[in-house]
Amino acid sequence: MRAKLVAANWKMNGSFSLLDKMLDVLRPNMGNTSCQVVICPPHVLLSSLNNAVEGTGIEVGAQNVHSELSGAFTGETSAILLKECGAQWCIVGHSERRMLFDESDEFIRSKTETLLNHGIRPILCVGESLEQRDSGTHEEVVVAQLRKGLSGLTAEDQSRCVVAYEPIWAIGTGKTATPEQANSMHTIIRKELESLASPEVAANIQILYGGSVNVENAESLLSQSEIDGALVGGASLKTDDFSQIVAAGL
Ligand code: PEP
Repeated sequence: MRAKLVAANWKMNGSFSLLDKMLDVLRPNMGNTSCQVVICPPHVLLSSLNNAVEGTGIEVGAQNVHSELSGAFTGETSAILLKECGAQWCIVGHSERRMLFDESDEFIRSKTETLLNHGIRPILCVGESLEQRDSGTHEEVVVAQLRKGLSGLTAEDQSRCVVAYEPIWAIGTGKTATPEQANSMHTIIRKELESLASPEVAANIQILYGGSVNVENAESLLSQSEIDGALVGGASLKTDDFSQIVAAGL
């Protein structure tokens, strides 16, 4: 049985004070939920988050990493340093990184490998554009991103990854995939994982949905058989909303 996982992607938002407020709201409810909770703030907040979540069960995630471990990469952060800051998770392949920072599938794959080599679990994002969905190529686009993102990894390493299906047309737009659309893509992803890794590994990998998840739609999305949680952007910046989304993952 896969546990539900709800991850907050704060993107380039948030602050030290939001961190305090968020934890004040989440902390008292952590004993009542079986849902895994991961917060991915900007890197400069990671150490504070790590100290503040001690004993709560809330987990620490980063939003980005470089594939190399050190060197002349101004502005980048290594997996070694993320680990020192307490990161247990890291988002890779987010559509904003693919589009705004031109990240290729190959670069994303090497980041995934670096994370795994340093004990950080990747949250690998895949998802199609509106154009690709309208032209009917969405399934092959997502399967190709998945294959490239996980290529060359052992089944054991693949088993430590979480996949987030995030249709680009649903991110930050207020347009959510219907629970049926999301569930159907998750089924395709799991089927592909069966051949990439093994049926056993595929059955245990958590597949999250991301794209305008909010208080109103969380329950209907999270109750789908193949939806194992959510990657939440905008709504993860609102303490009460995020706490209610976590509660929907009970
Ligand atoms: C995201 O950026 O991962 C995301 C899902 O954003 P939003 O919830 O705002 O659509």
